[in-house]
Amino acid sequence: MRDLVADEAERLRFIEQKAREVSRLFGYREVITPLVEHYELLAAKVGEDNRKRMYVFDDLGGRKVALRPEFTASIARLVATKMQSFPRPLRLFSVGSLYRYDEPQFGRYREFWQANYELFGSSKPEADAEILALTDSLLEEIGLRGYYFKVGHVGILRSILSHDGIAEDQQNSIMQLLDKKQYEDVLEATKKAGSPKSSLDTLDSLFETKGNDSETVTAEIGEIVKDYPEASKAARNLSEILGLLKAGSVEANFVIEAGFARGLEYYTGMVFEIYASGMDIAVGGGGRYDKLIELFSGGQVPAVGVAPGIDRLSLALQKQESSLSTIEKVVEPENRILVVAVDGSMLGEAFKVASRLRKESIVTVELETMGRSVSKALSDADRRGITHAVIVGSREMKEKKVVLRDMSERTQETIAIEQLLAKFGKQG
Ligand code: AMP
Repeated sequence: MRDLVADEAERLRFIEQKAREVSRLFGYREVITPLVEHYELLAAKVGEDNRKRMYVFDDLGGRKVALRPEFTASIARLVATKMQSFPRPLRLFSVGSLYRYDEPQFGRYREFWQANYELFGSSKPEADAEILALTDSLLEEIGLRGYYFKVGHVGILRSILSHDGIAEDQQNSIMQLLDKKQYEDVLEATKKAGSPKSSLDTLDSLFETKGNDSETVTAEIGEIVKDYPEASKAARNLSEILGLLKAGSVEANFVIEAGFARGLEYYTGMVFEIYASGMDIAVGGGGRYDKLIELFSGGQVPAVGVAPGIDRLSLALQKQESSLSTIEKVVEPENRILVVAVDGSMLGEAFKVASRLRKESIVTVELETMGRSVSKALSDADRRGITHAVIVGSREMKEKKVVLRDMSERTQETIAIEQLLAKFGKQG
């Protein structure tokens, strides 16, 4: 697990802040769930790969617990219990750290951060479209460029397998193979599970069907699965979702891949991942999962959601350098002031000036705390990009004044404290 230092931490918080703003814009209320939950709850539907990667331990009360590998199970628990009587649709937002014993590599960590948006109670395509539109807003807000959505529909694939009588747990392992793009293995496993050649051919054709013209691609998919009534319905659903986004002028780039599946077991409909230029790993993913709440005895509650990965978005922004300036503006105020006492006797006054500045202004105010001389403190301030120094000396203080030094202009003036506050104040 990593320490996030300075820039890394600030970038993460910047994305978190934007994610929270977007949640408000779209009406998603925040929920905070525990980091540690019963193992059984977290393991129930997370998928074989992630189940094996959970941090599991016995607590002192002898309960088998685990660190959460995702938010969805905890939120599904909430919706099935405490929030069961909340009016629908229920829009929920959460953000925090997750834990998976992944093999650490570029963009893959054992502790990572996600924002999470889930919409419960609607099975309509407009709910799916909203989740995609919201994700697009977030990516725009943080200033990410050159990204695209890879979109599929596991309902189409699962319907074909169900049509051939393949049981759900077998379907789950087939979806995991698909997630890893092991198409040959998928066909082999499907054949073994009893699908006829016609279905294998259908799946094979689907694996080849992709493109970014949503109307053409969804029409092709419809044609390929026309002998499977449920799969045809699912294909129409995908076409409706994409049609809505087009009608709503959501201009993001959607690449439809009929053979695309995601590893988590609970997906039942539209699934998607987000890719950013310069990164070959997904920066976020999501989809529809209509059966998960039922699993927690919460009745039938359709749901669709997205989990943007904050660490990977941060990496993507870092790669797209010019975006960095946007972040710096947000995390660092334009003015950084250093308050220096001329000598020890003025420290109390320096503290007071610094406190008043912080209370009334939107600047960063640091106090010289190393006992350095004014000239040493100033040359250090210069090196660290401090924009202004406020020098607190007894002569000026008698008249309620201080010396204000502009570090870049290398000029200084004696000004009244009230004037200083006005200059850097919120109204200034
Ligand atoms: P998932 O929860 O597997 O659907 O993943 C959703 C998003 O979380 C991914 O697209 C990544 O951005 C992020 N993510 C998943 N696993 C990791 C990890 N080990 N390290 C960093 N980010 C991750």
